[in-house]
Amino acid sequence: MSLCKDHGIVSQGKIEYRMTVEHKKRLDGIKTYKPGKPIEEVKRELGLDSVIKLASNENPLGPSPRAIKAMADAAQQANRYPDGGCFYLRQALSEQLSVPGDNFVFGNGSDEIIVLAIRAFLELTDEVIIADPTFLIYRIASMVEGAKVKLVPLKDNKYDLDAMAEAISPATKMIFIANPDNPTGSYVTAGELDAFIKKVPDNVIVFIDEAYYEFATGGDYPETLDLIEKKDSNVIIARTFSKAYSLAGLRVGYGIMRSDIAKALNTVREPFNVNSIAQAAAVAALEDTEYLKKSVNLTNSEKERYYRKFDEMGIQYVLSKTNFILVNIERDSAKVFDYLLRRGVIIREMSAWGLKGFIRVNIGLPEENDMFFEVFEEAIKEIK
Ligand SMILES: *Cc1c(COP(=O)(O)O)cnc(C)c1O
Repeated sequence: MSLCKDHGIVSQGKIEYRMTVEHKKRLDGIKTYKPGKPIEEVKRELGLDSVIKLASNENPLGPSPRAIKAMADAAQQANRYPDGGCFYLRQALSEQLSVPGDNFVFGNGSDEIIVLAIRAFLELTDEVIIADPTFLIYRIASMVEGAKVKLVPLKDNKYDLDAMAEAISPATKMIFIANPDNPTGSYVTAGELDAFIKKVPDNVIVFIDEAYYEFATGGDYPETLDLIEKKDSNVIIARTFSKAYSLAGLRVGYGIMRSDIAKALNTVREPFNVNSIAQAAAVAALEDTEYLKKSVNLTNSEKERYYRKFDEMGIQYVLSKTNFILVNIERDSAKVFDYLLRRGVIIREMSAWGLKGFIRVNIGLPEENDMFFEVFEEAIKEIK
């Protein structure tokens, strides 16, 4: 052990493993991601029969029946490894978006596209610029690689692109933009994004995370595919089947980028990262345009009901381009979270994001939303 010590290697507990002091310090400095509580866990722990979850921005409709049928069919072939190149999904997306096939990279959720981009490009001395708060995976994955994270605070619950441009230094390698953003639900406009991209040096990768694209598209929301077509663009766009397409449990997402950037991500990708059932379901989900319309329309009409309810109650919230709303309850959010949980309503309290007194709630089915309104009103009356 003394020899190990001399080399800065630590061993911990009963399990002997070798980790340099720097590496251990790096990992110890990372707060692990805490997901929303699963329904089954809450039922078990609190002895409740009926629990609804509005905590993880999931789609309450359940997958398209066509996707479910495709999953059942694909299950018959589950003895075979999946197609590592996602041939049919690539072809379907390529046609739908009019983007050549070699501009896509597929991932085990779009989370994995974030991780692959970071693994491909970030080195120890590199800087990455991330908003604060925003989606936590950017920071966690960058810290794992030992990159230096520069946090740029939001301004009025929105990305401050001017401040992010000013934060760029010669060491900057990547910039993350969640558009729309999670947890605020706000978005940057086409004009704002254009002006920002013009200020970013050519050797910096701009990662635009469009996990809520299907809810956001239209109006002054940017259509970023044009950026990829410009040969000199270092933009990576990430989208997912988890939210509007309702396939979060299958884990399938994709990135769109210049083909040479795609090649770099594919180099660090595991060969069979997207399973065969997910691939089949995603192809079927893309074909079911009626389902997508229904999903987006339901979200938008129910979101209006949330706005009206909060307005009635005099509760502040951030206007959202997504399927969730960030709400400023101006109360102890852990207490409100607990109150709702005991009544079988799971939401997210935002202290882990540094947002004290905020909760995030996602749009559920109409009856789930009614349930939320009822319990939330009680909680707000009870907890001062
Ligand atoms: C939900 C979400 C994702 C990732 O979802 P996957 O299920 O991994 O595709 C990515 N970015 C943001 C901002 C999200 O909210």
